[in-house]
Amino acid sequence: MSQRRASHHNRCPNCRINQFFCVCEFLNPLKIKTQVSLIVHVSELKLTSNTAQFVEKLIPSEAKIYIRGRVNDHFSPDPILERSGRPLFLFPDENSIELNDSFKTNFPGPYHLIVPDGNWNQAKQVKKREAKFDTIQSVKLPPNLIAEYKLRKAPRPDWVSTFEATAYALGILEGKNVEDHMMTFFRKWVSSTLAARSGDFSSVIKKENL
Ligand SMILES: [Zn+2]
Repeated sequence: MSQRRASHHNRCPNCRINQFFCVCEFLNPLKIKTQVSLIVHVSELKLTSNTAQFVEKLIPSEAKIYIRGRVNDHFSPDPILERSGRPLFLFPDENSIELNDSFKTNFPGPYHLIVPDGNWNQAKQVKKREAKFDTIQSVKLPPNLIAEYKLRKAPRPDWVSTFEATAYALGILEGKNVEDHMMTFFRKWVSSTLAARSGDFSSVIKKENL
């Protein structure tokens, strides 16, 4: 049996990475002022590469996943719309305003950040389908963000994962320390996932020999 095959049988139930590369010890919970609602398709949530799950694990009090696409369970935006804070829909549509310091002056917080997960088209469909999201201000990240997410192919060069998009948005809305806290975990998760996928146990063996 190859190491890669073997790794599927020894996954950590929480971070779902091979237990030798488990990143749970780096999941240090964070408390923030912004409410975060992640809208995730049920089929995406099953994927080990889905990043929304880690936003919820890292910000357990304020971040919440709302699942859409379940059979016999129609997605309702109402529980999301009931949450407190100025609602902002993180998607770069034609009416979106860039998140920056002048945005915060013009639109003071506290905020409620709504983040559609999935690929570009799926995320676009979420706002289109739900009429109740129509009146919510769309916001976009400043240009030229470099995606660190190497686990899936990006459909657009400026595309970033749900986790990164949320981290960068909170970095602007809350402060750089929140972004740094989140990205420190993210980098650890990406490198550990890539190492587990390649079946390269050398870093683990080195660690055990210390
Ligand atoms: Zn783990």
